[in-house]
This record gives sequence, C-alpha cells and structure tokens, in this order.
Amino acid sequence: MQVSEIYRSIQGESTYAGLPCVFVRLTGCNLRCTWCDSEFSFHGGRKMTIDEVVAEVDNLQPSTGNRQLATGNCLVEITGGEPMLQEREAVPLMERLLAAGYKVLLETSGERPLARVPMQVVKIVDVKCPHSGEPGTFAMENLNALQPHDELKFVLTDRTDYEFARDFVAEHRLAERVHAILFSPVFKKDAAGTRDTSHCLLDPEQLAHWILAENVPARLSLQIHKLIWDPAAKGV
Ligand code: SF4
Repeated sequence: MQVSEIYRSIQGESTYAGLPCVFVRLTGCNLRCTWCDSEFSFHGGRKMTIDEVVAEVDNLQPSTGNRQLATGNCLVEITGGEPMLQEREAVPLMERLLAAGYKVLLETSGERPLARVPMQVVKIVDVKCPHSGEPGTFAMENLNALQPHDELKFVLTDRTDYEFARDFVAEHRLAERVHAILFSPVFKKDAAGTRDTSHCLLDPEQLAHWILAENVPARLSLQIHKLIWDPAAKGV
C-alpha cells in the first residue's frame, strides 16, 4: 500500500478526541475539498507491506503499550487522503490491527463502498456539505453499512452547510443509527500561528446558538489538534 505518513499524536476530531492515537495516513484522494488540510497526502509517500505498517504501528506504542492493548484502548486511525481507495490493502490491514488488539478508527468521506470494512472498526464518515466543493459525493448506500458505534461528521462553513447537515440528519434519522453526529466548523486553509477559534470560517459560538435553538442532536466538534499545536503543523 502507498503510505503518506505514520505518526503518534492526539486524536483531534471525534468522540475519541483527546486520546493518544497512532495515525496511518494513506496516499491519494479522489476528492478536492476546498478546505482540505492534507493535500500533501494526495501524492508521494512510500510503498509498504501490511507487515511493515503493523510493525511501525507497534513500534510507536510506548512501553505501557501491551497493557493498553490488553484493555483494547490503544487507538489506531486509518486516514488519508481517502483510505478506501486502497481498499484491497486497507481492509486486511484493519483486520490485522483488530486481531492484534487495537481499537481501529477509519476516517473516510464515504464516497467509496464501506460494506467490506470490518464491523468492529469505528467508521468516522465525513459527509461533504454544499460548500465543501464536493457536495453529493457521499454514497447513499453506505447508510446501510453504518454500525451503532460509528460517527458521522459534517464540516461546516456557513448557514447553508449547517442547514444541509441538520436536514440530512433528520431525513435519515441518523441520531438513532450512529453513536455520534459531529458538526465541526471548518478551519481556514491557511491558518497558522495563533491557536484559537478565530481561524474558524464559521464562528463556533454562532454554530452553538444554531444547534441549541433548533435542538439538533449533534455534538459541536472542534479540531483540537489545531488548538493544541500551530494550525499549520504537520504530523500532529
Ligand atoms: S476527502 Fe479529505 S483528504 Fe480528500 S480532499 Fe476532502 S478533506 Fe482532503
């Protein structure tokens, strides 16, 4: 498989936010979201076997790793780019990591079929909103592949995106089908330097008002890695 980077950091944007996590970022994406913050992963990287990826993930565990594995708490997130473009290798990789005792997260746009993703994997599906530049790319049949532990994320730039997400959640009764629905204000693409929410294209306070006013069953989610480190930092 073609791998952009493997590193250990803090999970930044899901209900697992704040937990230590090893990220396996696969190369390549078939979408071009206007606010994408990982364009560096579209090309390049290195060819690795599944054995090599698993060994590197194992090596990134701290000395307490075995104890964490025994309790199933050690997180690995498969991300990209779009990891499901490499489904033939990504699915066996997920199976190997699960068998080794890892809790596995998969970050995906849901444009590719998700039916073959192992059931134990927590899918974090980023449904593209109207102003993402890639609206309508979520494959609706993937709604049938959702598990109760999965999470759906909507990255929002403005009221139009918010209303799309609100209506999509209601229309498909998503609150009854998944563990969490995440509404996340998008960070400006060129954000750098100060680590605060002034970089958000949609003010989180405004979003909070909308969610509260309409009692939307969503969790307001901030990309906490962009508040912990410089928003332009890579590998965090
Ligand atoms: S799907 Fe993800 S990696 Fe691909 S362009 Fe959109 S934000 Fe970037």
